[in-house]
Amino acid sequence: MKKKDLLTVIVPCYNEEAVLPETIKELSQVMINLIESSQINTQSKLLFVDDGSKDKTWNLIQEYSKSNNLVTGIKFSRNYGHQNALLAGMTTAVQYSDMIITIDADLQDDINAIYEMVAKYYEGIDVIYGVRNNRKTDTVFKRRTALAFYGLMSKLGVDIIPNSADYRLMSKRATEGLLSFKERNLFLRGMVPLVGYPSAKVYYARKERFAGESKYPLKKMIKFALDGITSFSTVPIKLITNLGLVIVFIGICLFIYAIVRKIEGQVTVGWTSLMASMWLIGGIQLICLSVIGEYIGKIFTEVKQRPRFMIEEDIYSDKFKC
Ligand code: UDP
Ligand code: MG
Repeated sequence: MKKKDLLTVIVPCYNEEAVLPETIKELSQVMINLIESSQINTQSKLLFVDDGSKDKTWNLIQEYSKSNNLVTGIKFSRNYGHQNALLAGMTTAVQYSDMIITIDADLQDDINAIYEMVAKYYEGIDVIYGVRNNRKTDTVFKRRTALAFYGLMSKLGVDIIPNSADYRLMSKRATEGLLSFKERNLFLRGMVPLVGYPSAKVYYARKERFAGESKYPLKKMIKFALDGITSFSTVPIKLITNLGLVIVFIGICLFIYAIVRKIEGQVTVGWTSLMASMWLIGGIQLICLSVIGEYIGKIFTEVKQRPRFMIEEDIYSDKFKC
């Protein structure tokens, strides 16, 4: 593989005026080091995506872009959310870049891991996940909920790398693969493993937010988690089927019990038929619902129009090309 590939670092920003000057300074230094040691192309850039900020974020990006050749930006017309900001950055950068790194604006993720990511990229690895090796800087609540969330996701059969956020390097072909996923409800950290290709992890310690406040309040976090579960799994629908089966089983047992009681002549009039029908009908209704649910689940996976395969190597076409 030829060296000096073009790197674009994508930084989503929502009301980040407090951290931007420092972020630009530190990230620029990393880029300069990489350019000077001939590890990346001199055209490599920092791409700041302003996600409809209400403060001076965009003015800052514009000003810095005049004095600092590394700084570029795109601006959203309104707030579309973190995941869409990342996607827009990738869509814009992929045409010119050989590798793309996404990182939050608040410097919580250790930017020194970028050197290791780039080195691994040159070893031929397509996706390099930044994984935090501690969560000491998170609140106990965030740590517990994150742990429970990753546990639940893996039980639901969704393959995500625990403790990896949206800090990662992706090669051009992996980014193009990711962009061919046409779904609207984005949960990038679940989608990236689906792209496949060789991958590796780089560990780092997560720091406190450098300045400003978290842009992910509890409400946004819950929505994000629910999006993750419902965009990736139809297991909740299957749970309804199982519940329906259990209730029908209970219904049958109660039916037999009620008949026995009736034969013994120890019941009030009407009790037997009420008992038996209530549970049976309840169970049958649940099963019917889940059958409909199964079809909705199928429609749900169809409308996403995810690519059905991604070819890593193709000797057939290569032979025609030479
Ligand atoms: N962000 C964004 N749009 C939003 C919310 C957040 O672009 O609607 C960006 C934010 O500027 C930051 C990153 O997403 O660069 C992660 O947000 P934050 O650090 O506030 O999340 P936390 O680390 O608290 O989970
Ligand atoms: Mg943060």
